[in-house]
Amino acid sequence: MGNIGRVAFETLGCKLSYAETMSYCRDFEANGCEQVSPRQQADIVVVNTCSVTEHADKKCRNYIRRLNRLSPDARIVVTGCYAQLAAEEISKMDGVWCVVGSAYKSRLVTLALSPSLDRKVFVNPSEEDSGFFPAWSSGERTRSFLKVQDGCDYHCTYCTVPLARGGSRNGTIASIVEQARQAAAQGVSEIVLTGVNTGDFGKTTGESFLNLLKALQEVEGISRYRISSIEPNLLTDEIIEWIASGTKFLPHFHIPLQSGCNKILKAMHRRYNTEFFSNKIAKIRSHIDNVFLGIDVIVGFPGETDEDFQETYSFLETVRPAFIHIFPYSRRKDTPAASLPGQVQESVKSCRVARLEELCRRLHTEFVEENRGRREEVLFESSNKGGKMFGYTRNYIRVERDFDPETIGKTVWVTL
Ligand code: SF4
Repeated sequence: MGNIGRVAFETLGCKLSYAETMSYCRDFEANGCEQVSPRQQADIVVVNTCSVTEHADKKCRNYIRRLNRLSPDARIVVTGCYAQLAAEEISKMDGVWCVVGSAYKSRLVTLALSPSLDRKVFVNPSEEDSGFFPAWSSGERTRSFLKVQDGCDYHCTYCTVPLARGGSRNGTIASIVEQARQAAAQGVSEIVLTGVNTGDFGKTTGESFLNLLKALQEVEGISRYRISSIEPNLLTDEIIEWIASGTKFLPHFHIPLQSGCNKILKAMHRRYNTEFFSNKIAKIRSHIDNVFLGIDVIVGFPGETDEDFQETYSFLETVRPAFIHIFPYSRRKDTPAASLPGQVQESVKSCRVARLEELCRRLHTEFVEENRGRREEVLFESSNKGGKMFGYTRNYIRVERDFDPETIGKTVWVTL
């Protein structure tokens, strides 16, 4: 193959994958490659895949086919969760140069650029230690996603993530602080800490999540931090009290609930019940004013009756999150829940999703109204949509204004 300078990236899935893709991108550029759009012809195409649902798997296959049609001579390098779970199948697809699993992420650029390979599949069984591949996103002038943790040792009965990403592991506080400094040097002012089970940070280094937050607090140039998601049982009272003591960590929490019904939480093997969850929310609210709470909920888990769903609905009305991330249950191969009795019909799932979407709209409107008239600090982002730019308050309310290039990456006080 002649000159292999043009590299395109396609990322399907979460903030963690996006941070990893941006790290690959920097490595390719350090090797003299030029990033091009995935809608252009390329010599190498990196597809960072997701496998959170059956639909995600199908989408990945479609993307690989489309990219192969667009650049028939390109080397398609497939990585990410679906690559780890379906390596052999993917390796047989047209245009695939190699499939790179969790354990080989730090070698992805070398494998993509090497003159030849003795095989296509570079994947170790997920139970083996894959090491920690550090990553942070660059290229966005305001915000960066910083990977602090990977993998998971929890085994929720519906989830394939531990199979795709392996056991819980993390980088050292020193290395993560160094990456935050690099992001600050690029003009980033807000960092979103990301991981699979972010609050489980410290498993492989013996360090604590709270000490990580305290170390990041000292990084100059970064004025805001958000935690992308944290399990309720890992968001300790100590962390809440420290964040409430006046830090750069914003009044914004994204906490997976999954169900508001204890029977279903038990069947999911979640590590708390509804009482624990509502006490945690009460704790946050008693220490942090105007806090934005985003909550994940799965509807249609096997065995979920109308009464169970109504329990979830009522629980959410009581907890009153500012936003509900709603996921219809997706039956995943090799998960215990896939063989549970009482699989819920898709039409029933759709009805329940629609009811929660309506509830989410109502609760979000109420949250915004409760903040009306308050003064808030907004960090404006770089995109210009129809002459408008937007940004988020500290408590994650979206604010729009006329586009002004001088305001990009600046924090501005506004009255909501
Ligand atoms: S904690 Fe999250 S990533 Fe881990 S098994 Fe449960 S749902 Fe999956």
